[in-house]
Amino acid sequence: MTLHETVAAIVAHIATIEDRGTVASYIPELAKVEADRFGMAIVTADGETFIGGDADASFSIQSVSKVFALTLALGKIGDQLWERVGREPSGNAFNSIVQLEQERGIPRNPFINAGAIVVADVNLGGHQPRVAIGEMLRFLHYLAGDDAIAINEAVAASETSTGFRNLALANYMRAFDNVRHPVDLVLGTYFHQCAIEMSCRQLALAGRYLMLDGRHPDGGRVVSAARARRINALMLTCGHYDASGDFAFRVGIPGKSGVGGGILAIVPGRASIAVWSPGLNENGNSKLGTVALEELARHTGWSVFSPPD
Ligand code: GLN
Repeated sequence: MTLHETVAAIVAHIATIEDRGTVASYIPELAKVEADRFGMAIVTADGETFIGGDADASFSIQSVSKVFALTLALGKIGDQLWERVGREPSGNAFNSIVQLEQERGIPRNPFINAGAIVVADVNLGGHQPRVAIGEMLRFLHYLAGDDAIAINEAVAASETSTGFRNLALANYMRAFDNVRHPVDLVLGTYFHQCAIEMSCRQLALAGRYLMLDGRHPDGGRVVSAARARRINALMLTCGHYDASGDFAFRVGIPGKSGVGGGILAIVPGRASIAVWSPGLNENGNSKLGTVALEELARHTGWSVFSPPD
């Protein structure tokens, strides 16, 4: 089967599945999305693009933004980040607060909410949120080669008015001096980065540097090869919260999910992939997005645990 046929077969199969999971409703604005949407985009290392379903429909990237925010924060303070955030899977839900007390305000990893809030604090860097958010948008425009990527202000406002857990996490870490700017500015940055909207095509394009050892396809270097490998390692071990082990077992590809139903998955040296299906499983990861990636990995042999062909 060609990759084009594989994508078509996956789209056709997904359309037949009735149990699509549950669309996130704790951010009220996200609940408006129709559960039957599905999109997929694959950009290969040699620059070809394969798309299927609603690949050009914009969705809220939510926690997929944590990959790009981490990349920016590492660019600002490098390995010093690891004094403030760990690199271990949490084994807990994405918005859990329990470990933070035991571990004295140091979140387990940059992909759970607490870790991403510390990353947002780093990216704020003494500026106003609009500066940090502008930087993030410009970074995504560069990575995807698409200046149309923007924030959905209604989603940002919806989360700002209901994000009490994130407020608790941020305040708690501020008590340990691991959040250093005023909490409302840090969360303003974090909520807006989560409210960025992208299509599968844009997201797969934005992820190319992670499949290309840190290089932009235009030849520029986004991050060092070592850093790209480490971000991929974190995606594999921590990208799906307390279901990261299950995702590695079923799919075998580094991936980062978001409660908008998107997943960015990176096959080093081969492909940058984005899938979107808004219904979530019990761990807050896209139910059918995971199924689609599982099928793709099976058809292509693209597990990072497979020898290269
Ligand atoms: N903005 C969401 C939150 O903070 C992101 C969570 C997610 O996508 N898992 O709750």
